[in-house]
Amino acid sequence: MSERINVMLPWLGEEESKALAEVIESGWVAQGPRVARFESEFAAVMQAEHAVAVTSCTTALHLALIVAGIGPGDDVVVPSFSFIATTNVVRYVGANPIFADVDAATGNLTADTIEAVRTPATRAVIAVDQGGVPVDLDAIRAVTDPLGILVLEDAACGAGSTYRGRPVGAGAEIAAWSFHPRKLLTTGEGGMITTSRADWADRARHLREHAMSVSAADRHRSVLPPAEEYVELGYNFRMTDLQAAVGLVQLGRLPAIVTRRREIAGRYQAAIADIPGLRAVADPEYGTSNFQSFWVEVEAGYPTDRDGLLAALAAAGVSARRGIMAAHRQPPYRELARSGCLAVTERLTDHTLILPVYHQLSAADQDRVIAVLRRPAG
Ligand SMILES: *Cc1c(COP(=O)(O)O)cnc(C)c1O
Repeated sequence: MSERINVMLPWLGEEESKALAEVIESGWVAQGPRVARFESEFAAVMQAEHAVAVTSCTTALHLALIVAGIGPGDDVVVPSFSFIATTNVVRYVGANPIFADVDAATGNLTADTIEAVRTPATRAVIAVDQGGVPVDLDAIRAVTDPLGILVLEDAACGAGSTYRGRPVGAGAEIAAWSFHPRKLLTTGEGGMITTSRADWADRARHLREHAMSVSAADRHRSVLPPAEEYVELGYNFRMTDLQAAVGLVQLGRLPAIVTRRREIAGRYQAAIADIPGLRAVADPEYGTSNFQSFWVEVEAGYPTDRDGLLAALAAAGVSARRGIMAAHRQPPYRELARSGCLAVTERLTDHTLILPVYHQLSAADQDRVIAVLRRPAG
């Protein structure tokens, strides 16, 4: 019996263990100097003016909507074709999610799919770099900017992807990132907001620690701390220095991770080009993907359907995954689904699967996956 091949594995090593040990020896494990360093180094790598670390991409998106002033009565256009958090955060602030369809080649919102569902109450769009494929932000902003509609970029999957020669997120007023192990960089759990607006960054820093007038770090540094006030309703969305220390090491690994993933994706693409009935995700003409999720669409003409291929892969010890979910099919959002306008979302959700890609995946293991793609019937 050959060894099981995972769909994703984080790449963690001795450097992360050493960085963690240093934090523990320092005696300062909560949000402190390492979080501040992680923020400034992350901002530099992503060409963002400000970065604010938080507990996850979900809390990053939630805070981003708050600092942008989105709330009850506002409509927010989101792709149904995304992890559920993209839609949930809209509800967290009391606004209404409006589902838009996606482009079949990229899996992302486009100016046209947004225009098809936009309402007079639409005040924001959450544009996802789905699976690491950059969203065409300029084309969307050409439509939304004149209307005063904010575009919040959900770059959860996007670290290491590029859009028109720059890191994804660099062209957004505000973007949110994830450090869950399913993404390229991990801190166990963790997230980041990047923004071009100093006022939004300041407010996010404030709200992530209960809207305290004196930061916890400043309080702990002083022998007699100044009295603090809780200026408005805040949250505990703080990252720890333990997580940031791991994040700093991971950030240094990003170029190597992206190079390796793109090599693996290139080998899949070359093999799949010769297999009738399979279509692989590819770079759009305006950018490059980090291939956070390498998806394949099973079309008519392939010997089996998506679930048949998943079963064949599982029988060979390969852990693939069903494609990206459709939020409008989940119980909290079923009532919101508009019939007919999510055709591409449903097609991709029903006919795609995600193949194993991770830094340590060997050529021999990848060949095992490709052999099943070639002959799913065994
Ligand atoms: C993973 C993911 C999230 C949520 O990230 P967490 O850090 O787990 O909260 C949000 N949006 C998208 C598109 C994602 O893929």
